[in-house]
Order: sequence, then C-alpha cells, then structure tokens
Amino acid sequence: MREESLKLRPYLDEVGVMIGLEIHVQLNKLNTKIFCGCPLDYHDDGPNTHTCPVCLGLPGSLPVINRKAVEYSIKVGLALNCSIEEHTQFYRKNYYYPDLPKGFQITQYDYPIASSGYINIEGEDGEVRIRINRAHMEEDPGRLVHEGGSIERSKYTLIDYNRSGVALLEIVTEPDIRSPKEARRFLDKLRNILGYLDVVDTTLEGSMRVDANISLSGGSRSEVKNISSHKGAERALLFEIVRQKNLLRRGGKVVQETRHFDEARGVTVSLRTKEEAHDYRYFPEADLVSLRVADWAPGIAKTLPELPDARRQRFITHYSITDDHAKSLTSEKQVADFYEQVAAEVDPKLAAVWIADVLKGELNYRDLGIDAFASASMVQLVKLLAGDKITEQSGVEVIRTILDEGGTPDEVVAAKGLLKAGSDLVTAAVEEVISENPGAVEDYQNGKQEAVNFLMGQVMKKTKGRADAKEVRKMIIQRI
Ligand SMILES: [Zn+2]
Repeated sequence: MREESLKLRPYLDEVGVMIGLEIHVQLNKLNTKIFCGCPLDYHDDGPNTHTCPVCLGLPGSLPVINRKAVEYSIKVGLALNCSIEEHTQFYRKNYYYPDLPKGFQITQYDYPIASSGYINIEGEDGEVRIRINRAHMEEDPGRLVHEGGSIERSKYTLIDYNRSGVALLEIVTEPDIRSPKEARRFLDKLRNILGYLDVVDTTLEGSMRVDANISLSGGSRSEVKNISSHKGAERALLFEIVRQKNLLRRGGKVVQETRHFDEARGVTVSLRTKEEAHDYRYFPEADLVSLRVADWAPGIAKTLPELPDARRQRFITHYSITDDHAKSLTSEKQVADFYEQVAAEVDPKLAAVWIADVLKGELNYRDLGIDAFASASMVQLVKLLAGDKITEQSGVEVIRTILDEGGTPDEVVAAKGLLKAGSDLVTAAVEEVISENPGAVEDYQNGKQEAVNFLMGQVMKKTKGRADAKEVRKMIIQRI
C-alpha cells in the first residue's frame, strides 16, 4: 500500500479527488442509552444483557429522549463551529435489517441539531478548512457478529442488542477533503476535539465509525461503509482511488454504490447499489416531540472547554514555544495537561523540547499513553538538565529506563552513575589522553582535523560518557 501511495501522489492532483466523510460518534460517556434507561457499561458483559423493550423495539414500547444526549450533541456542534438549530425533530428512517428489529431507525432528517460548521486541519500545503454540513442525532443499531470473520465468508451471524439504542451523533462533512492523508488528519483532529469535550471514550471499540464518499473528476461516487480505524480510512480511500482510476482508464464507469472495506485484506467489495433518501420513506417520529434547542445553546457554550486550536495559540504566546511544539503538545488533551503541569515548575521551552521531541517518541515506540510517565518525574528530569547535572544523552537514557523499568529520574541517575563528571575529572581525563596519545596530537598539529575525534572518544571513554561532548572538544583543541 505504501508504494501505491507514492506512485499515486502526482495523479491525485490531476484527477481531482473529492472525499466526504460521515462519522458516527458514540456518545458513550453518557450513563444510559438515548431513548431508554439501559446502562452503557456493557462492554465487559455478555451479549444481550443490557436491553429492554424500548431498545429491542418491542411493540407498544415508547422512547423518551435522554436530555444529556441532547446537551452533549449541542456541545459537539458548538465545538465544530456549527449553528444550533432553532428546533430539532426526530424522524423514522424505514428499512429492515436484523440489527434493527423495529424496522426503522430513529434519526434526524430535515431538522438536524447542528449544521454549517467547520474544522481547520493541516492540508498538503498549509492549513485548510473542511466544512461540516451537519451533525444529527440517532440511535445505534445492534451489533452483528459475523462468525468466522468477514461478512462475505461467514456461515452465520449473531446479533448483540447491547449496542442497540446507544446515542450516536453522525457528523457529515462537505466533500472538501482532497487526499486519504487529509482524511486521516481530519479524523485525528475530530477525535482530538471530542477528547477535549469529554463526551466520548474513543478507546472503546466502535466509538468512531467512518463512512467515506469518494469520487474522481466529479464522476459518480462510491461509498465505503463502516471503517473502524483512522488508518483503515486512509487505506480504504487509497484502495478506492486506485480502483476507480483503473476502472476509468479501461473506459469503464464508476457506478454509485455502497462498498464494504475488508480491513484484513485491505480491499473494498461491492455491497449494493447506493440507496436514495426517498427509499427510506422518512417521516416524523410521532412518539417524540420536537425540541426547541436554540435556548439551550448559550448556556452550553459557556461550559465549553478551551479547544485544541485556542490552546495551541495560547501555548505559543504564553510559553513562547514553537508552533510545532505547541501543535504536538495540544494534539491530545492529556498531553497538554501534562505539559502545563510541568511548565508551571520549570523552563517551559525546555519542557516542550523534552516532552514533544523525546518523551512522546519514546511513548509511541512502546505504544504507551502519557499516563505511563509521571509529570513529577518530568519536572525532576528537566531540573537535572537545566542545572547541567546530566548530559542530554543521559536524559534520553533516564526516560527510557523509567518507561521500561520504573523509578524516578534521581533514582535512575544515582543507580546508573549518570551525574555529569565534575570539571576537575574531565580536565584530568583530557590531560591523560593527550599525554597517552602523542601520535594523534601530532597528527592534529599537522592539519589532520579528524584526530580530535579520536582524542574526544578516548576522553568520553575515560569519563564513561558523563562529560559533555562539545565541551570536551573545546578543551582538547584549546589544550593542543
Ligand atoms: Zn433499553
């Protein structure tokens, strides 16, 4: 796939890729489902243990809207720069599928709760704005479990209704995305914003599910359904671009259809021709009154936290750190909080370098979150570095040791003897090395610059790497 993406780059610009995304976000930080009181903490329990007549769609059961779900949706809408509608209405979307036993899904149609927003992301060249068409509320259907893996190979399918009735917010973008990489960045940014809002736990499986519409040169679009990861979205889109491109080159036509992304095989397969809105016979859900939400928005707006873009700007002005560091440090709420705790006690610029450039890399490498490292340890480490007590090389070693074996910086430095060698010790080592290696000294004096490197190496060996390399170099050159 990687080679394909490289070959594709120039072609992408020529053919005019248009990508629009629909993201189903589970508001799983709610306590209960959207229209009934069934609790959402079902992930550790067996299938079909968190259900009731409402979320099973039994005849005669009546839905009651979860007020908190409406508040969360408004919160997300505001954070995505959307307008909140005057009033919002639920509709029935009619279709039969085993995961939806009542034969329709309660969703929104003409009066979505939020519309006309945007998110700014890092595009191929500079910042670009991806418009949000709308965000609407709906209920999650049950979960189908295809025994034996993929949908087209399994012999039978099981259904778990624990998920049925979980509050979803479907966020629909305009087709403003121009490449699979941009799609991934959009999804990362969205996840980041949702993390700041604390309305969804994105670590739970299926908490953010993506459908992607894609077309080339304004031709027909295909829709790829139910992509479960951001990396999967990028791969599915790359596959679709290649598939559509080859089809067009052979003189074929892209038909409007729904396709399924087989994550294991990395291919999309045709599911059905694309349905139209009128196929669903949308009509207002008479069991739920329309909600006047315009009055809710101002109050909820006041509860919005500082969002990633604003926080990034504040980091740049308040802590005088670079844009790149600010971007990296605010890309996850927990990391930004961690940074602020550390920056309150030590030099913010030095803290930014060690958290953004070193710690984050070491965490990624080990697939760990920021909570694997204590902010107090980072404070201690930055103090050691700022006080010139350890070398940068030792600083990296301290971080690695703590992540792999535990301990605090002071403990690791003591256990490994990482304290910088005192200046007397270094001076003595330089003197020794110079007297022990007259040949190298002579070489240098005859113009062989690289002889210094050899002498430096000898000094570092004698001081067991606890001397500052740049300083040692200066001392040797001054001395000879
Ligand atoms: Zn229920």
